[in-house]
Amino acid sequence: MMRVNHTPPGDNTMTAPASPALIDDLVVANHILVNEGVLDGFGHISVRHDQDPSRFLIARSMAPGLVTAEDILQCDLDGQVHDAQGRRTYVERFIHSEIYRARPDVHAVIHSHSPAVIPFGVTGARLRPICHMSGFLGAQVPVFEIRHAAGESSDLLIRNQALGRALVESLGQASVALMRGHGNVVVGRSIQQVVFRAIYTESNARLQSEAMRMGDINFLTPEEAQATSNMNDEHLDRPWQVWKRQALQRSA
Ligand code: MN
Repeated sequence: MMRVNHTPPGDNTMTAPASPALIDDLVVANHILVNEGVLDGFGHISVRHDQDPSRFLIARSMAPGLVTAEDILQCDLDGQVHDAQGRRTYVERFIHSEIYRARPDVHAVIHSHSPAVIPFGVTGARLRPICHMSGFLGAQVPVFEIRHAAGESSDLLIRNQALGRALVESLGQASVALMRGHGNVVVGRSIQQVVFRAIYTESNARLQSEAMRMGDINFLTPEEAQATSNMNDEHLDRPWQVWKRQALQRSA
């Protein structure tokens, strides 16, 4: 059963432990996302705590391809790590904390610099669903321009709550937002769904770039996007199982 935990600021304790299966899936997801070319030495995935919706689980600040269960930390919606034991998580944790605060429907978040997506954040070309695997992209994907919130000379990172809130405003109710000159953020209701979405966001960007060189693109309509997204949500476990096996084989 979910319960809301009102942790006073500065409290440095663990609440109820998260389920071991959830932690296992989070570890596996880190490895899948590296294996599938979404994360490299950078980027991160988090999941909302299954016993305490005011916290989320995320690895300590490290390369995602090396994450084990011992590296998973609990973080609250102010971006504070609990039971840190000297460990720190990512500077850009405010991407996660502010999305969980604003979107109760979201239970998993990925921030990546997945390469094929970058051109769509820096040109007039909008990322749109080109095939039935990426209907979750909706009508078109919003682009977050950090200059509006951080001025002309920032390092483009989401370093604080205010920048996290600005990003969340661009994201709105969408599944994906691009971050100009930096990367993207993908949200979902589960680890399996958000991993699926992050992999197919990268794939859609690759295919769309190719198709743009060939001519005008016949994109999915918003209705087709919704229908295909609903359809794919019924089959999230199938690709998850094969991605998991491949990632585990590779890291063995
Ligand atoms: Mn980043």
